[in-house]
Amino acid sequence: MTTHERPLDSVLETIGRTPLVRLQDGPDGVRIYAKLESFNPGASVKDRIGRYMVERMLERGDVPAGGTIIEPTAGNTGIGLAIAAQQLGLDAIFVVPERFSVEKQQLMAALGADIINTPTEDGMGRAIERAYELADELDDAVVPQQFSNPLNAEAHYATTGPEIYEALDGEVGAVVAGCGTAGTLMGIARYALEQDPDTYVAAVEPEGSLYGEVLGAARKEDEYKIEGIGTHDPSTNELFDPELVDDVYPVSDERAHDELKHLARAEGHLVASSASAASVAAKRVASEIDNGELTTPHETVVTIFPDSSERYLSKGIYGSFDEWSS
Ligand code: PMP
Repeated sequence: MTTHERPLDSVLETIGRTPLVRLQDGPDGVRIYAKLESFNPGASVKDRIGRYMVERMLERGDVPAGGTIIEPTAGNTGIGLAIAAQQLGLDAIFVVPERFSVEKQQLMAALGADIINTPTEDGMGRAIERAYELADELDDAVVPQQFSNPLNAEAHYATTGPEIYEALDGEVGAVVAGCGTAGTLMGIARYALEQDPDTYVAAVEPEGSLYGEVLGAARKEDEYKIEGIGTHDPSTNELFDPELVDDVYPVSDERAHDELKHLARAEGHLVASSASAASVAAKRVASEIDNGELTTPHETVVTIFPDSSERYLSKGIYGSFDEWSS
Protein backbone atom coordinates (compact mmCIF):
# COMPACT_ATOMS: atom_id res chain seq x y z
CA MET A 1 0.00 0.00 0.00
CA THR A 2 2.81 2.38 0.69
CA THR A 3 5.19 1.70 -2.14
CA HIS A 4 5.27 1.71 -5.88
CA GLU A 5 6.54 -1.69 -6.76
CA ARG A 6 6.59 -1.43 -10.53
CA PRO A 7 8.64 0.97 -12.65
CA LEU A 8 6.86 4.27 -13.24
CA ASP A 9 6.80 6.54 -16.27
CA SER A 10 6.68 9.96 -14.61
CA VAL A 11 7.23 11.61 -11.26
CA LEU A 12 3.48 12.34 -11.21
CA GLU A 13 2.85 8.64 -10.68
CA THR A 14 4.82 8.69 -7.42
CA ILE A 15 2.21 10.98 -5.83
CA GLY A 16 0.11 9.40 -3.09
CA ARG A 17 0.14 5.90 -1.59
CA THR A 18 2.16 7.33 1.30
CA PRO A 19 3.00 5.26 4.39
CA LEU A 20 0.65 5.13 7.37
CA VAL A 21 2.77 4.64 10.49
CA ARG A 22 1.69 3.91 14.05
CA LEU A 23 2.86 6.39 16.68
CA GLN A 24 4.51 4.75 19.65
CA ASP A 25 2.95 7.18 22.17
CA GLY A 26 -0.62 7.45 23.25
CA PRO A 27 -2.91 5.52 25.57
CA ASP A 28 -2.56 1.70 25.51
CA GLY A 29 -6.02 0.95 24.19
CA VAL A 30 -6.06 3.40 21.30
CA ARG A 31 -3.85 3.19 18.22
CA ILE A 32 -2.72 6.46 16.59
CA TYR A 33 -1.54 6.44 12.98
CA ALA A 34 0.12 9.23 11.01
CA LYS A 35 0.13 9.42 7.23
CA LEU A 36 3.56 10.62 6.13
CA GLU A 37 2.96 13.02 3.28
CA SER A 38 6.63 14.01 2.96
CA PHE A 39 6.97 10.79 0.94
CA ASN A 40 5.44 12.60 -2.03
CA PRO A 41 7.90 13.82 -4.73
CA GLY A 42 7.53 17.49 -3.76
CA ALA A 43 7.71 16.32 -0.13
CA SER A 44 4.27 17.47 0.98
CA VAL A 45 0.57 16.64 1.02
CA LYS A 46 0.02 19.35 -1.59
CA ASP A 47 1.43 17.26 -4.46
CA ARG A 48 -1.90 15.45 -4.39
CA ILE A 49 -3.95 18.56 -5.10
CA GLY A 50 -1.36 19.89 -7.55
CA ARG A 51 -1.77 16.86 -9.78
CA TYR A 52 -5.50 16.46 -9.24
CA MET A 53 -6.45 20.10 -9.84
CA VAL A 54 -4.25 20.56 -12.93
CA GLU A 55 -5.42 17.30 -14.53
CA ARG A 56 -9.11 18.11 -13.95
CA MET A 57 -8.73 21.75 -15.09
CA LEU A 58 -7.07 20.61 -18.33
CA GLU A 59 -9.76 17.98 -18.90
CA ARG A 60 -12.52 20.52 -18.33
CA GLY A 61 -10.87 23.11 -20.54
CA ASP A 62 -10.47 25.65 -17.70
CA VAL A 63 -6.95 26.18 -19.01
CA PRO A 64 -5.68 25.28 -22.50
CA ALA A 65 -2.56 23.20 -23.15
CA GLY A 66 0.37 25.63 -22.96
CA GLY A 67 -1.54 28.03 -20.69
CA THR A 68 -0.52 29.37 -17.26
CA ILE A 69 -1.61 28.63 -13.72
CA ILE A 70 -1.32 31.41 -11.14
CA GLU A 71 -1.77 30.57 -7.47
CA PRO A 72 -1.53 32.41 -4.15
CA THR A 73 0.34 29.94 -1.95
CA ALA A 74 2.35 29.55 1.22
CA GLY A 75 4.68 27.31 -0.72
CA ASN A 76 3.77 23.64 -0.56
CA THR A 77 0.87 24.04 -2.97
CA GLY A 78 3.18 25.93 -5.28
CA ILE A 79 5.64 23.04 -5.28
CA GLY A 80 2.85 20.53 -5.98
CA LEU A 81 1.35 22.67 -8.71
CA ALA A 82 4.78 23.39 -10.22
CA ILE A 83 5.49 19.66 -10.61
CA ALA A 84 2.08 19.04 -12.19
CA ALA A 85 2.24 22.13 -14.43
CA GLN A 86 5.71 21.24 -15.68
CA GLN A 87 4.78 17.62 -16.40
CA LEU A 88 1.49 18.55 -18.06
CA GLY A 89 2.86 21.37 -20.21
CA LEU A 90 1.73 24.53 -18.40
CA ASP A 91 3.58 27.59 -17.05
CA ALA A 92 3.27 28.44 -13.35
CA ILE A 93 3.39 31.74 -11.44
CA PHE A 94 3.06 31.84 -7.63
CA VAL A 95 2.17 34.77 -5.39
CA VAL A 96 3.74 34.19 -1.97
CA PRO A 97 3.58 36.42 1.14
CA GLU A 98 7.19 37.18 2.12
CA ARG A 99 7.07 35.48 5.53
CA PHE A 100 6.83 31.98 4.10
CA SER A 101 9.88 29.76 4.09
CA VAL A 102 12.65 30.59 1.67
CA GLU A 103 13.32 26.89 1.01
CA LYS A 104 9.85 26.46 -0.43
CA GLN A 105 10.28 29.49 -2.67
CA GLN A 106 13.63 28.18 -3.94
CA LEU A 107 12.09 24.79 -4.74
CA MET A 108 9.22 26.36 -6.69
CA ALA A 109 11.75 28.36 -8.71
CA ALA A 110 13.89 25.24 -9.28
CA LEU A 111 10.85 23.54 -10.77
CA GLY A 112 10.60 26.37 -13.28
CA ALA A 113 7.92 28.56 -11.69
CA ASP A 114 8.01 32.36 -11.38
CA ILE A 115 7.57 33.77 -7.87
CA ILE A 116 6.01 37.11 -6.93
CA ASN A 117 6.23 38.16 -3.27
CA THR A 118 3.62 40.26 -1.45
CA PRO A 119 4.25 42.05 1.89
CA THR A 120 3.79 39.84 4.96
CA GLU A 121 1.61 42.45 6.68
CA ASP A 122 -0.91 42.36 3.82
CA GLY A 123 -1.59 38.68 4.55
CA MET A 124 -2.87 35.93 2.29
CA GLY A 125 -5.82 38.14 1.25
CA ARG A 126 -3.51 40.41 -0.74
CA ALA A 127 -1.72 37.44 -2.35
CA ILE A 128 -5.09 36.12 -3.53
CA GLU A 129 -6.05 39.53 -4.99
CA ARG A 130 -2.72 39.86 -6.76
CA ALA A 131 -3.09 36.41 -8.34
CA TYR A 132 -6.43 37.42 -9.87
CA GLU A 133 -5.01 40.75 -11.09
CA LEU A 134 -2.24 38.87 -12.90
CA ALA A 135 -4.67 36.35 -14.38
CA ASP A 136 -6.67 39.24 -15.84
CA GLU A 137 -3.50 40.63 -17.44
CA LEU A 138 -2.52 37.34 -19.14
CA ASP A 139 -4.25 35.31 -21.85
CA ASP A 140 -4.96 31.66 -21.11
CA ALA A 141 -4.26 31.93 -17.36
CA VAL A 142 -6.30 30.34 -14.60
CA VAL A 143 -6.18 30.62 -10.80
CA PRO A 144 -6.83 27.18 -9.26
CA GLN A 145 -7.52 29.00 -5.93
CA GLN A 146 -7.01 26.20 -3.45
CA PHE A 147 -8.95 28.14 -0.77
CA SER A 148 -12.24 27.85 -2.64
CA ASN A 149 -11.73 25.16 -5.30
CA PRO A 150 -13.77 22.02 -4.52
CA LEU A 151 -11.16 20.03 -6.49
CA ASN A 152 -8.79 20.59 -3.54
CA ALA A 153 -10.97 18.60 -1.12
CA GLU A 154 -11.99 16.21 -3.89
CA ALA A 155 -8.33 15.19 -4.37
CA HIS A 156 -8.31 13.92 -0.78
CA TYR A 157 -11.73 12.32 -1.10
CA ALA A 158 -10.43 10.44 -4.14
CA THR A 159 -6.99 9.45 -2.82
CA THR A 160 -6.04 10.14 0.83
CA GLY A 161 -9.33 8.93 2.31
CA PRO A 162 -9.48 5.61 0.43
CA GLU A 163 -5.77 4.94 1.12
CA ILE A 164 -6.37 5.31 4.88
CA TYR A 165 -9.37 2.98 4.86
CA GLU A 166 -7.59 0.39 2.76
CA ALA A 167 -4.53 0.40 5.03
CA LEU A 168 -6.64 -0.04 8.19
CA ASP A 169 -9.23 -2.42 6.70
CA GLY A 170 -11.88 0.22 7.41
CA GLU A 171 -11.11 0.39 11.15
CA VAL A 172 -11.00 4.17 11.52
CA GLY A 173 -12.44 5.69 14.69
CA ALA A 174 -11.36 9.32 14.38
CA VAL A 175 -9.79 11.54 11.76
CA VAL A 176 -7.70 14.46 13.02
CA ALA A 177 -6.03 16.96 10.68
CA GLY A 178 -4.82 20.53 10.59
CA CYS A 179 -6.80 23.03 8.54
CA GLY A 180 -5.16 25.58 6.27
CA THR A 181 -7.46 25.60 3.27
CA ALA A 182 -9.17 22.66 5.06
CA GLY A 183 -9.05 20.67 1.80
CA THR A 184 -7.19 17.77 3.41
CA LEU A 185 -9.60 17.37 6.33
CA MET A 186 -12.77 18.01 4.32
CA GLY A 187 -11.90 15.46 1.63
CA ILE A 188 -10.93 12.76 4.13
CA ALA A 189 -13.90 13.57 6.38
CA ARG A 190 -16.40 13.33 3.56
CA TYR A 191 -15.01 9.92 2.61
CA ALA A 192 -14.87 8.78 6.26
CA LEU A 193 -18.43 9.82 7.06
CA GLU A 194 -19.67 7.90 4.03
CA GLN A 195 -17.97 4.78 5.39
CA ASP A 196 -19.39 5.35 8.88
CA PRO A 197 -21.37 8.45 9.89
CA ASP A 198 -20.20 8.02 13.51
CA THR A 199 -16.52 8.58 12.66
CA TYR A 200 -15.20 11.42 14.84
CA VAL A 201 -13.78 14.34 12.84
CA ALA A 202 -11.46 16.85 14.53
CA ALA A 203 -9.90 19.95 12.98
CA VAL A 204 -6.58 21.24 14.33
CA GLU A 205 -5.58 24.90 14.38
CA PRO A 206 -2.94 27.04 16.10
CA GLU A 207 -4.05 28.97 19.19
CA GLY A 208 -4.87 32.44 17.87
CA SER A 209 -6.54 31.09 14.70
CA LEU A 210 -10.29 31.48 14.30
CA TYR A 211 -11.59 28.20 12.86
CA GLY A 212 -13.02 27.30 16.26
CA GLU A 213 -15.23 30.37 16.20
CA VAL A 214 -17.17 28.87 13.32
CA LEU A 215 -18.23 26.06 15.67
CA GLY A 216 -19.12 28.56 18.38
CA ALA A 217 -15.96 28.46 20.53
CA ALA A 218 -14.80 31.76 22.01
CA ARG A 219 -11.41 32.46 20.45
CA LYS A 220 -8.95 35.33 20.62
CA GLU A 221 -7.25 36.29 17.35
CA ASP A 222 -3.47 36.32 17.69
CA GLU A 223 -0.28 35.66 15.73
CA TYR A 224 1.26 32.18 15.79
CA LYS A 225 4.42 30.50 14.56
CA ILE A 226 2.91 27.18 13.43
CA GLU A 227 3.11 27.28 9.62
CA GLY A 228 0.56 26.00 7.11
CA ILE A 229 -2.60 25.81 9.22
CA GLY A 230 -5.02 28.27 10.80
CA THR A 231 -7.02 31.26 9.62
CA HIS A 232 -7.65 34.85 10.66
CA ASP A 233 -10.72 35.08 8.46
CA PRO A 234 -12.70 31.83 8.13
CA SER A 235 -14.88 33.43 5.42
CA THR A 236 -11.91 33.12 3.03
CA ASN A 237 -11.56 29.39 3.81
CA GLU A 238 -14.58 28.45 1.78
CA LEU A 239 -13.95 24.71 1.85
CA PHE A 240 -14.30 24.43 5.64
CA ASP A 241 -17.70 22.83 6.26
CA PRO A 242 -18.60 22.93 9.97
CA GLU A 243 -21.24 20.26 9.37
CA LEU A 244 -18.48 17.69 8.86
CA VAL A 245 -16.47 18.64 11.97
CA ASP A 246 -17.18 17.48 15.52
CA ASP A 247 -14.68 19.78 17.23
CA VAL A 248 -11.73 22.11 16.64
CA TYR A 249 -8.58 21.52 18.74
CA PRO A 250 -6.34 24.57 19.24
CA VAL A 251 -2.63 23.84 19.83
CA SER A 252 -0.14 26.39 21.20
CA ASP A 253 3.14 27.19 19.45
CA GLU A 254 5.01 25.99 22.55
CA ARG A 255 3.25 22.61 22.57
CA ALA A 256 3.76 22.15 18.80
CA HIS A 257 7.45 23.04 19.17
CA ASP A 258 8.01 20.55 22.01
CA GLU A 259 6.20 17.88 20.03
CA LEU A 260 8.16 18.31 16.81
CA LYS A 261 11.38 17.85 18.75
CA HIS A 262 9.90 14.82 20.51
CA LEU A 263 8.71 13.27 17.23
CA ALA A 264 12.24 13.57 15.80
CA ARG A 265 14.05 12.32 18.90
CA ALA A 266 11.70 9.54 19.95
CA GLU A 267 10.00 8.38 16.77
CA GLY A 268 12.33 9.35 13.91
CA HIS A 269 9.81 11.65 12.27
CA LEU A 270 11.42 14.76 10.78
CA VAL A 271 8.21 16.76 10.61
CA ALA A 272 7.30 20.42 10.92
CA SER A 273 4.89 22.34 13.13
CA SER A 274 1.62 21.57 11.36
CA ALA A 275 2.35 17.86 11.75
CA SER A 276 3.38 18.18 15.37
CA ALA A 277 0.24 20.23 16.14
CA ALA A 278 -1.79 17.44 14.52
CA SER A 279 0.08 14.91 16.64
CA VAL A 280 -0.72 16.83 19.85
CA ALA A 281 -4.40 16.95 18.91
CA ALA A 282 -4.48 13.28 17.84
CA LYS A 283 -3.08 12.31 21.24
CA ARG A 284 -5.76 14.43 22.96
CA VAL A 285 -8.47 12.70 20.93
CA ALA A 286 -6.93 9.30 21.75
CA SER A 287 -7.00 10.14 25.49
CA GLU A 288 -10.63 11.24 25.24
CA ILE A 289 -11.48 7.90 23.61
CA ASP A 290 -9.44 6.02 26.20
CA ASN A 291 -11.07 7.71 29.20
CA GLY A 292 -14.57 7.30 27.80
CA GLU A 293 -15.28 10.98 27.04
CA LEU A 294 -15.60 10.11 23.36
CA THR A 295 -17.15 7.08 21.75
CA THR A 296 -15.89 6.19 18.27
CA PRO A 297 -16.66 3.22 16.01
CA HIS A 298 -13.07 1.94 16.37
CA GLU A 299 -10.27 2.68 18.83
CA THR A 300 -8.01 4.16 16.18
CA VAL A 301 -7.10 7.76 15.44
CA VAL A 302 -5.65 8.77 12.07
CA THR A 303 -3.78 11.99 11.49
CA ILE A 304 -1.81 13.59 8.68
CA PHE A 305 1.81 14.74 8.81
CA PRO A 306 1.73 17.22 5.88
CA ASP A 307 5.44 17.84 5.25
CA SER A 308 8.98 17.62 6.66
CA SER A 309 11.10 19.79 8.93
CA GLU A 310 13.94 20.07 6.40
CA ARG A 311 11.93 22.78 4.71
CA TYR A 312 12.09 24.95 7.86
CA LEU A 313 15.66 24.51 9.12
CA SER A 314 16.48 28.12 8.20
CA LYS A 315 13.75 29.22 10.60
CA GLY A 316 15.51 27.51 13.50
CA ILE A 317 12.78 24.93 13.92
CA TYR A 318 15.00 22.65 16.08
CA GLY A 319 16.50 25.50 18.12
CA SER A 320 15.08 26.91 21.35
CA PHE A 321 11.49 28.14 21.22
CA ASP A 322 12.67 31.76 20.97
CA GLU A 323 15.04 30.94 18.09
CA TRP A 324 12.20 29.44 16.07
CA SER A 325 10.88 32.20 13.85
CA SER A 326 7.59 32.31 12.05
N1 PMP B 1 0.57 21.84 6.72
C1 PMP B 1 1.30 22.49 5.82
C2 PMP B 1 2.78 22.54 6.03
C3 PMP B 1 0.70 23.12 4.73
O1 PMP B 1 1.44 23.79 3.82
C4 PMP B 1 -0.71 23.07 4.62
C5 PMP B 1 -1.39 23.81 3.50
N2 PMP B 1 -1.52 25.19 3.75
C6 PMP B 1 -1.44 22.38 5.59
C7 PMP B 1 -0.76 21.77 6.61
C8 PMP B 1 -2.93 22.34 5.58
O2 PMP B 1 -3.52 21.62 4.53
P1 PMP B 1 -4.91 22.10 3.97
O3 PMP B 1 -4.68 23.34 3.17
O4 PMP B 1 -5.36 20.96 3.10
O5 PMP B 1 -5.85 22.36 5.09
